Amino acid sequence: MLKLGSVLDAWRPKPGPGGDPLAAARSVWPDLVGADVARAAQPVAIERDTLIILTTSASWSHQLAFLEPEIVRGLAALPQTVAITRLRFRVGKLRRAAPAGSAAEQRRAQRSAAVEPPAKTLADALARLRRSVERSRAAHRALGGRFCTVCEAPTAAGIARCIPCRDESERQRRFACECLLFEAPWLPTNDVLVLVDGLTPEQFDAIRRRLLRSWWDEMWRASKLFRLRQPIDRRRLRKLASSFVLLETHIDPNRLEMDSAVRKNALGELYDFVCEIETLPA
Ligand SMILES: [Zn+2]
Repeated sequence: MLKLGSVLDAWRPKPGPGGDPLAAARSVWPDLVGADVARAAQPVAIERDTLIILTTSASWSHQLAFLEPEIVRGLAALPQTVAITRLRFRVGKLRRAAPAGSAAEQRRAQRSAAVEPPAKTLADALARLRRSVERSRAAHRALGGRFCTVCEAPTAAGIARCIPCRDESERQRRFACECLLFEAPWLPTNDVLVLVDGLTPEQFDAIRRRLLRSWWDEMWRASKLFRLRQPIDRRRLRKLASSFVLLETHIDPNRLEMDSAVRKNALGELYDFVCEIETLPA
C-alpha cells in the first residue's frame, strides 16, 4: 500500500523509465496508490499539467478526487512528473494489467500480499488508502513538516502555503490591485492596501509602476495607429488616459479640468492625441 515517505525516498536516486512522464507515472502508480486502487484506476494520458486517470466507476473517480493532493504530491517527487499539478478522472474500460513483470515486481507483489490481503470492496480499499495517507501525513508532521493552509498538500517546515497556492493567491492579489487602479485610480494607497488582502506597499508600488508603463505603451501605440487611420478602441483609450493621469498625479478627480496644466504635464507628447480622441464624436 501507499507508503509515501519511503516511496519518495526510493524514487529520487532511481534513473526512472526515461523521460516519458506518462510512462513514469504508470510505473510508480501501483506503489503510490496501492494495489487495490491500481486495479480500479490507471493513468492513461497527460494533457498539459493534468494526468488523466481512467477508473472503473464514477464512485472510484469521486473517492479518488479527495486524494488528489496526496497523489499529485507523490508524483511531484519524480522528475518526469513534477509538472503534473492536477488529476482528471474518466470512467472507462481498464486495460488488463500486464502479466507478472520483472522478478523484482513479483517479489514486491508477494511482499505486499503478505502484509495485507487484497481488499474485498471499494470501501475497504479506499479506507486502506486513506489510513496509509494518514500515516504518511503523520510522519510528515512528526518530522516538523506542515500542510498548505489552502489545499492541505504537505509543505516544508515553516511554510504555510504550497508553491501552486502561493502563486495563485499572488496572481489574484495582482489582478485585484490592477482592477482597482484602473477603475478607481483616485483611491489613496492605504485604501488599496486595505481592500486587497495581503498586498504589501512594495507590491503595490511595483504593480502601479508596471501598470502606468503598460498604459503609456498602449496609448503610444494607439496614437501611431490613429495617425495611420487604423481602427482604435477610443472608449477604452479615454478611460485609460483618465486613469493614467489620476494614478500618475494623485490629483483629486473633481479638480481635474479637461485642459488643466496637470493633465498636459502628465500626458506629455500624448496630450494632443488624447484631446483629439476625446473631442471626436463617439
Ligand atoms: Zn496548496
